[in-house]
Amino acid sequence: MERPSVIHKTASDLRLPPNWNNYEGERSVDVWDVARRALQGLPGGGLNIGFEAVDRHAASALRDRTALRFISRSSPAIDLSYGELARQTNRFANMLRGLSVGQGDRLFVLAGRIPELYVAVLGALKNGTVVTPMFSAFGPEPIATRINLGAGQVLVTTDVLYKRKVKQMREQMPTLRHVLLVAEDGGITNEPDTLDWVTLMASAPDAFNTVDTQPDDPALLHFTSGTTGTPKGALHVHGAVVTHFCTGRYALDLHPQDRYWCTADPGWVTGTSYGIIAPLLQGVTSLIDREEFDAERWYSLLEQERISVWYTAPTAIRMLMKSGPELARRHSYPALRFVASVGEPLNPEAVWWGKEVLGLPIHDNWWQTETGGIMIANTPAFDIKPGSMGRPLPGIEACIVEHLEAEGEPPRVRIIDTPDVEGELALKSGWPSMFRAYLNNEARYRKCFAGDLYLTGDLARVDADGYYWFVGRADDVIKSAGHLIGPFEVESVLMEHPAVAEAGVIGKPDPIVGEVVKAFVSLKDGYQPDEALRMDIMAHARKRLGAAVAPKEIAFLPTLPRTRSGKIMRRLLKARELGLPEGDTSTLEGGA
Ligand code: AMP
Repeated sequence: MERPSVIHKTASDLRLPPNWNNYEGERSVDVWDVARRALQGLPGGGLNIGFEAVDRHAASALRDRTALRFISRSSPAIDLSYGELARQTNRFANMLRGLSVGQGDRLFVLAGRIPELYVAVLGALKNGTVVTPMFSAFGPEPIATRINLGAGQVLVTTDVLYKRKVKQMREQMPTLRHVLLVAEDGGITNEPDTLDWVTLMASAPDAFNTVDTQPDDPALLHFTSGTTGTPKGALHVHGAVVTHFCTGRYALDLHPQDRYWCTADPGWVTGTSYGIIAPLLQGVTSLIDREEFDAERWYSLLEQERISVWYTAPTAIRMLMKSGPELARRHSYPALRFVASVGEPLNPEAVWWGKEVLGLPIHDNWWQTETGGIMIANTPAFDIKPGSMGRPLPGIEACIVEHLEAEGEPPRVRIIDTPDVEGELALKSGWPSMFRAYLNNEARYRKCFAGDLYLTGDLARVDADGYYWFVGRADDVIKSAGHLIGPFEVESVLMEHPAVAEAGVIGKPDPIVGEVVKAFVSLKDGYQPDEALRMDIMAHARKRLGAAVAPKEIAFLPTLPRTRSGKIMRRLLKARELGLPEGDTSTLEGGA
């Protein structure tokens, strides 16, 4: 179906006056400075993420507002107010202090989305301890690899996960001094060589003075999702809170009265920056669903929990689309007023699906582990161009660059001034949440910069209106008969076909044209993978893309391999297609 290329903002899309509406005006302000002044800061002059997110509100009129609302199928909801969260995080910080775990020490968390995870992360931040949340679905190897890479001294996990995944590897994690266990049955644990959460928390004092961390002190260590290789540890600082604060307002349009739901797990940077920190900074109530994806449940939650701002990912949206519009229409979403997505390109079809099924277009935004926060976004302040990631937020300068260096030389780039020319997406360095190191890999870190430009590794183009369009990860781009083909472009067109639920596109080596485009496709419920359908999808792609860019081959798969943060792993599709080693698959969903 042909659709307009712009979704104009209408009054019904904006059910509350947005936090801002003047793009150029806001970009001319020193927004970081304004945000620093809106935050409280520590009595000693420092800045601390945990303090700003929790204690600032606990000492205000928001004290009794629910900060975090945990829900699950098997137990009643747990509501933690800002005041209670302050008390529990103080206790946790005191507990760490009692264990001689201090500023700069490293703490890892391995748990489902249980309240203790959130208390541990925020309490550790208040203690100046550097935090790494891991996906609870990781197997023993990826857990040990990350703890060893990060020289983790403390691990917070559950008794069940410990016995299943950590115990047998304990000897191989020499830096680990303390393992703190939360009993999954709510009781007390007595596992040898471990500590019990309930017992230690019970005797920890309620009052704690946040450690006087400085903006450049390390706060969080996030491992990248590894769509294209071995995960790297990106180190973030407490000053990042300034970006979290600004982007919560500009990109997610959070207002204090919001009921907000971020569907990302804290094992992925989105689940920390926007599943924990940014919503608390705005004093909103966050829903945390402890269950995995379930279309019917998610629609019910949006309705029953009266979610007003929803931040999710293309993979979830595609799964909802796959389950058909009827399911969505069994519910209504009168409270919902803003929907955003991150993690992968959001196909225009998905933006329109939001408008048609939820009543609101979906706002795509772009960032990555290294940037620590949202950099480029579709926001309430301007029209949406479906398929575009939006425009750089206030405080962020982006550009498209071309590389000039010879093989093996340090990066040297030229900014491409002409609109609509593809190149690498770069950001002017210096925004507060920029990562400060790849752990133990200074050379790799340096390779990310050319002068004062941070090179993102993503290919994109910018149009004459300043909207950025994603082309692909530099490593995923396909070179075919002299064309550079971005997988996203092809995948988006495949997604327009009524039978297609998901598509992943790779370049397959070819002696004549270099690479040919091969597509892997999973189908919506009710469609059968047969030759007639294959030909129909192929014809649709040819018509929309032309023969040079359309896939030459289409294979059907029941589902596509994804990372735990929901990104299609094209690298793995390619390795499997070519019979090559699969490389690091620790972040593969359903893998070890
Ligand atoms: P991660 O660090 O795991 O969050 O992955 C970051 C990468 O995900 C980016 O460098 C992009 O390749 C991709 N990504 C994130 N958001 C978007 C988006 N809105 N559109 C296209 N790609 C995205």
